[in-house]
Formats: sequence, C-alpha cells, structure tokens
Amino acid sequence: MECLFCNIIKGDIPSYKVYEDETAYAFLDINPCSKGHTVVVPKTHYENFTEMPAEEAAALFATVRMIARLVEDAVSADGSNIGLNNKPAAGQAVPHVHVHIIPRFEGDNGGS
Ligand code: 5GP
Ligand code: ZN
Repeated sequence: MECLFCNIIKGDIPSYKVYEDETAYAFLDINPCSKGHTVVVPKTHYENFTEMPAEEAAALFATVRMIARLVEDAVSADGSNIGLNNKPAAGQAVPHVHVHIIPRFEGDNGGS
C-alpha cells in the first residue's frame, strides 16, 4: 500500500526526526505553521483517528503530550496548538492518522 507517512516511518522518504519509539514517529512538518511544527504519527497505519482502537488513540495522545513538552522546550515556545484533522472533509490531506503540534509564541497572532 502506498502511504506517504508509512514511507516516512520506514525512512524511504526522508524527514527530520523529532522522536521515535516502538509505536510512534514524530517529524518536522515540511510546510510549518510555526518554528518546530511537528507531526506525530502512529506506526500502525490507520486512515483516520476515529477508526483507531481507543487504547491506541489514548497511547498516541500520551506520546503527543510528552513530545509537546519536548518541542515547546526545544524552541522556547510559550504554548502550542495540538490537534488533528479527522477525514478529508475536515482538511485531512494525508490519509494516515497524524497529530499536529504547532508551537506558539506570545504575540505571534497565529501566523508563522
Ligand atoms: P493534514 O492537512 O493532513 O492535517 O496535515 C498533513 C501535514 O503533513 C501538512 O501540514 C503537510 O505540510 C505535511 N506534509 C505533507 N507531506 C509531507 C512530507 O513529505 N514531509 C513532511 N515532513 N511533512 C509533510
Ligand atoms: Zn500509512
């Protein structure tokens, strides 16, 4: 199956790795909304969040929380937007579950 993020996880497509463990991989977004914009993906391919088993979704968000702390620290952010687009109608462009961590800085007005 051809999946962009599966190929990134495998290393067939290069990415800037932020974090990796047995179940998740995190990398910098190629088109960042802010400095340090990170995408976190489960290593198991699920097309969207609502089809993930609840335990795996919970584990993913525990990992996202840990990575958000790491990323905020790394870029000295004042906060971050953390979220995901679920299914194409909601703006999900890549059909492999992914969570965005977008670092935010006091007074950044939401821009890049
Ligand atoms: P979505 O719109 O599906 O929630 O987010 C997909 C994200 O993946 C976008 O922010 C986009 O910039 C990012 N992206 C798409 N293709 C690549 C790629 O080849 N490498 C990296 N690092 N990010 C990508
Ligand atoms: Zn995939």
